[in-house]
Amino acid sequence: MDSDQFRQAAHAAVEDIINYLENSQPTHIVPDQEFGSFQKSMPQSAPQQGEAWSDIYNDYKSLVQPQMTNWIAPNFAAFFPCGTSYSSILGELYAASYGGSFFSWVASPAATELEHVVMDWLARALALPEAFLNGDEGDGGGLMMTSASESILTVMVAARDRALRMERERKQAGRVNWFNCAKKLPNAAEDVDDGIGVNGSGPPIPGCYTSEESMSHFVVLGSETTHSSTKKAARILGLQFKTVLAPRDAGFAMTGSALAGAIQECLDDELQPIFVTATLGTTATCAIDDLPGIGEILKEHPFIWGHVDAACVGAALVCPEYKHLARDLGLFGSFNVNLNKWMFVNTDASCLFVQSRKCLARSLDITPSYLENDAQLKDKFYEPHHLSLTLTRRFRSLKVWFTLRTFGIEGLTTHIRAGVSLGEQFSTMLSHRADLFEIITGPAFALVTFRVRPALEQTDRGSADYNELCNDATRKVCHMVNSSNKAFVTGCEVGDLYVIRMVTSNINSNLDAMKIMLDMFVDAAEGIRNL
Ligand code: PLP
Repeated sequence: MDSDQFRQAAHAAVEDIINYLENSQPTHIVPDQEFGSFQKSMPQSAPQQGEAWSDIYNDYKSLVQPQMTNWIAPNFAAFFPCGTSYSSILGELYAASYGGSFFSWVASPAATELEHVVMDWLARALALPEAFLNGDEGDGGGLMMTSASESILTVMVAARDRALRMERERKQAGRVNWFNCAKKLPNAAEDVDDGIGVNGSGPPIPGCYTSEESMSHFVVLGSETTHSSTKKAARILGLQFKTVLAPRDAGFAMTGSALAGAIQECLDDELQPIFVTATLGTTATCAIDDLPGIGEILKEHPFIWGHVDAACVGAALVCPEYKHLARDLGLFGSFNVNLNKWMFVNTDASCLFVQSRKCLARSLDITPSYLENDAQLKDKFYEPHHLSLTLTRRFRSLKVWFTLRTFGIEGLTTHIRAGVSLGEQFSTMLSHRADLFEIITGPAFALVTFRVRPALEQTDRGSADYNELCNDATRKVCHMVNSSNKAFVTGCEVGDLYVIRMVTSNINSNLDAMKIMLDMFVDAAEGIRNL
């Protein structure tokens, strides 16, 4: 493809993109196809000779586009919807033009420094404590990742190695019973220096443990409603996971006292908790864990690295009315938010903020000679790859910069409020059909969860079977609505309840779509009563 062909193809692509984004009423949400049918329509190997763009384009339009799930349809209310915007698409386009990998300052000064700039802009916009900023003071900072899962795995690696260093320190101090001496050690947000250098100096640890060292007693904590990414990270790192209760009467949130109880159980069993994920906006119900209470407990247990997962709801902190939720974040070592969920930036755009970049570098900085450069020798300077699991990095900050400037904080605030308001309106409409539906949580941050009431005469509400009947009816309604392919919601278990999650933060969510979806829920709920 030469530049003239690119120009022509790119103009057509821009028209296609505009057409798709402006006509967000597709015929389907999930393509009505059998699994594997797409692959069958494709050749088994790549072409031997290059093909004409017109042929590739025609196949894209006829084969690929129709089999995409329409995430931005107004009646897509599943998962946490993901956003996009013209500014973000332009950022992707320009970033792709460089063909680079932005792992170090010399690999592109602007890419590295723009990431610092936008992470600090974001930290300020979300009212994060100063300690999370890349500024000259302190050791904190933000960096961009592929996903919340990667962010959590990254900080858990650092937390594990930090715990090993603390343990070495305790052993060197001759403390045999080290379970009770945590108070003498620094707070979770701080690094622990055992004399092992960063930026390549000192022995090649952590990551290399002596034969006397074991991690089998290290435990990661999360609640029943913590996202599975924390459990997965623990599994990857070979760490035990312990579940903290988050029952319905606690709003499906983790409380400080539940955490304290779980920590004590670990210590009684001679296990050492080293990491806890507190969630600001759980996936199932957008519950907010008791951050001040958990933070207070962490003060007593500096061995434990506290992380706040705000993958979706973190975006809401741009609004003045939610800023108070950031008040206690300084009690935690790290925080993550995905801009691709509720901030008009397309996937991937996950941000991780830490109070101690040194802690990450101790675990993740392996700098072979071919990566050395003058810039990294400067005091307190971390290359992006010193702080990440991967070497290769995308130029993600460009689309974030474009988007933050295009919408401004006001534009983002308006968008968040629109989603929240739609959730409230949907909840009100739902409450008018209390004969059919029971609201379980919310409206909270553009999420309402509800379940379907079975016919009253089937059983009385106090009976043991009532819950099962509700769960069964809810599963059926969820399935019926989704299989209509005119709307898409996610059902999920919270405690022993099965609920439908109605998420109203899609970039195209609107009241008309909510009304249509409510009618669909009503028809399905009445339909199963009449079976
Ligand atoms: N944490 C929470 C609270 C989430 O809701 C999600 C996904 O929805 C994740 C983590 C995982 O995010 P990612 O897909 O970016 O790894």
